Amino acid sequence: MRGSGPRGAGHRRTQGRGGGDDTPRVPASLAGCYSAPLKGPLWTCLLLCAALRTLLASPSNEVNLLDSRTVMGDLGWIAFPKNGWEEIGEVDENYAPIHTYQVCKVMEQNQNNWLLTSWISNEGASRIFIELKFTLRDCNSLPGGLGTCKETFNMYYFESDDENGRSIKENQYIKIDTIAADESFTELDLGDRVMKLNTEVRDVGPLSKKGFYLAFQDVGACIALVSVRVYYKKCPSVVRHLAIFPDTITGADSSQLLEVSGSCVNHSVTDDPPKMHCSAEGEWLVPIGKCMCKAGYEEKNGTCQAPSPVTNVKKGKIAKNSISLSWQEPDRPNGIILEYEIKYFEKDQETSYTIIKSKETSITAEGLKPASVYVFQIRARTAAGYGVFSRRFEFETTPVFAASNDQSQIPIIAVSVTVGVILLAVMIGFLLSGRRCGYSKAKQDPEEEKMHFHNGHIKLPGVRTYIDPHTYEDPNQAVHEFAKEIEASCITIERVIGAGEFGEVCSGRLKLPGKRELPVAIKTLKVGYTEKQRRDFLGEASIMGQFDHPNIIHLEGVVTKSKPVMIVTEYMENGSLDTFLKKNDGQFTVIQLVGMLRGIAAGMKYLSDMGYVHRDLAARNILINSNLVCKVSDFGLSRVLEDDPEAAYTTRGGKIPIRWTAPEAIAFRKFTSSSDVWSYGIVMWEVVSYGERPYWEMTNQDVIKAVEEGYRLPSPMDCPAALYQLMLDCWQKDRNSRPKFDEIVNMLDKLIRNPSSLKTLVNASSRVSTLLAEHGSLGSGAYRSVGEWLEAIKMGRYTEIFMENGYSSMDAVAQVTLE
Ligand code: AMP
Repeated sequence: MRGSGPRGAGHRRTQGRGGGDDTPRVPASLAGCYSAPLKGPLWTCLLLCAALRTLLASPSNEVNLLDSRTVMGDLGWIAFPKNGWEEIGEVDENYAPIHTYQVCKVMEQNQNNWLLTSWISNEGASRIFIELKFTLRDCNSLPGGLGTCKETFNMYYFESDDENGRSIKENQYIKIDTIAADESFTELDLGDRVMKLNTEVRDVGPLSKKGFYLAFQDVGACIALVSVRVYYKKCPSVVRHLAIFPDTITGADSSQLLEVSGSCVNHSVTDDPPKMHCSAEGEWLVPIGKCMCKAGYEEKNGTCQAPSPVTNVKKGKIAKNSISLSWQEPDRPNGIILEYEIKYFEKDQETSYTIIKSKETSITAEGLKPASVYVFQIRARTAAGYGVFSRRFEFETTPVFAASNDQSQIPIIAVSVTVGVILLAVMIGFLLSGRRCGYSKAKQDPEEEKMHFHNGHIKLPGVRTYIDPHTYEDPNQAVHEFAKEIEASCITIERVIGAGEFGEVCSGRLKLPGKRELPVAIKTLKVGYTEKQRRDFLGEASIMGQFDHPNIIHLEGVVTKSKPVMIVTEYMENGSLDTFLKKNDGQFTVIQLVGMLRGIAAGMKYLSDMGYVHRDLAARNILINSNLVCKVSDFGLSRVLEDDPEAAYTTRGGKIPIRWTAPEAIAFRKFTSSSDVWSYGIVMWEVVSYGERPYWEMTNQDVIKAVEEGYRLPSPMDCPAALYQLMLDCWQKDRNSRPKFDEIVNMLDKLIRNPSSLKTLVNASSRVSTLLAEHGSLGSGAYRSVGEWLEAIKMGRYTEIFMENGYSSMDAVAQVTLE
């Protein structure tokens, strides 16, 4: 509840102003009627506002409960006294009624004219909006009317569960607001043939009953109420990240965010349940989690489809040891079929099966037992993966002696059995050696298998760990293990968007066969590179390719077989976060900023769970897309730091981005997920201060010294206390006392769910005392003015705050205790 009314009156939201786009222009033929002041015909002319009917479309997140412009029959509104408000019974050019009410008793004393709407159901909404379009006469333009003429009217409401509330007394209505015109009109305006139509919107809530009445009270103005629209707001049903979010009526409080869970679209699953937040304005904010198409299904326009099953399987030649099959392409391939997978096993022996892969639509399964029934299932694979298996088809091999009772078969059987035994032995040996194989009895999906054996690293199912590409003798092998090779002809380069250490970064498009075209970023390796440069350049792809998370930049693939060598990633429309925030200083709500931080923390939680330490987490290394989703980028080993212009050599010879790095990592190169948490705290500070440089112009040496002495960055301006506390927690000297990334994610989720917890800001005086506590020791006595001292410690920006808080002289500063 906000505003001036006793209950429920919403604040003013002027949406349109007289003279705006929806100002009706009066045709010359009718302009003359405006010369007769204060009479019915004057208002009749206003009915040209029928033109408003062309402007009726409401935004998709507004649901009308009443729109007087669209009611075809009687509105059923009541005016009392009877000679107050009057309805103008006009019709528009389509003979549809136009419900305009006018009153103009400006010459008479003590006016109290009420206009009551009929009962309006709120349809379950607890905050409703009322949009009024009206014109109001300028009292100064009225000859002799000044004493009694008013330029406002009042709007009220009364809640009731049914339509029986009409007989209530005036004093039971609750005032919403006094409505004044932004633009009143005079006779001169009428001469210009431009009507000044005002649009005012008020909101009321929380509502607790099923519906309400509205009432308009005139106390002596000259008004034409051209239309009344009552609506509530909803976040309209959307599909994001393959999850369906239902139509959601916004909350009762104008700052409330409703957490809404999404449900995965058909054929998709999630291990990070999708959620979004519905704001009071009917916007979806802060998407969390996502669904992913099940194996074999491809994401297409927010749905998952896969190749449909193979249905038509026919047997060909059948012998005692072999069965030939053929089939047709599935009815709906949904892409280009790359190959078929044929699974078969002896009936009732399903645990021991064989997989054959074929690019053709026919195969011959050999080495079968005579006179045995075999079960076959076939599935197709497109670039998106496998479709589901066909139904089971059963075929029986012929008996040994079916064709001829010929004893000469026996040696052949003996040879077959021997070969079979040898093959089995080879296969067991192969499996025991822990090597991968493309033809496997245990696993059908090579992707899944890749998860289990990686270059000798045995991985437990479900626990993914990062593999350092340095452990590969041949770095090219690592790239091809983790990154898809892309044909250069699938890439269209459009423009240069940045400069990386190894070459230009461009934007462009990627069109893979059977997939829809994607916008991508393309990093190129400049010509004349050394082998080490090529290895380091592609090292980033080997790392990035191991990650799959909505808050980690996604690798599409690499081009290594032609020149220039390229790394292709998803395109992030808003580029790097620090530049983006600087460009949009002060433009976001706290919730939006926390949403960005939540995304970064979720990405970092994923990396730390994988056992990857980033070492160079900073806003410049976060990319942000058009939905304000932040993703961690810039992966590499030593390269990252070589590449980073912020990195400086430490006394131990390493190159480290000092301002972002935890003291133990600077002092003895102890880089861990806990040192990443320190850097995350600095990123929080950068985000809340819209891309400010941490420690401003202090030198790296001063930063190291100050941090070592216990100094911490002061809170950014207007920073929620809860966020600053989290930053301080990330900057605990003892790295074990810092929060873990999963705790940070949980904490930010809590803040997002309860936005009122973000309303308490770190106040200016505590920011001042932080500065004093940290810098009191830096010899304030040597300076003539507070400004000079603050400049000297690179805190000149705080001079104004010191003055405001009464620290205008160095004497006053010297008196300040830590408390
Ligand atoms: P990097 O070499 O990764 O630091 O990239 C250099 C610059 O290119 C970044 O600062 C961004 O402005 C831009 N950039 C890199 N990757 C992307 C991407 N995926 N989408 C959009 N811009 C990018």
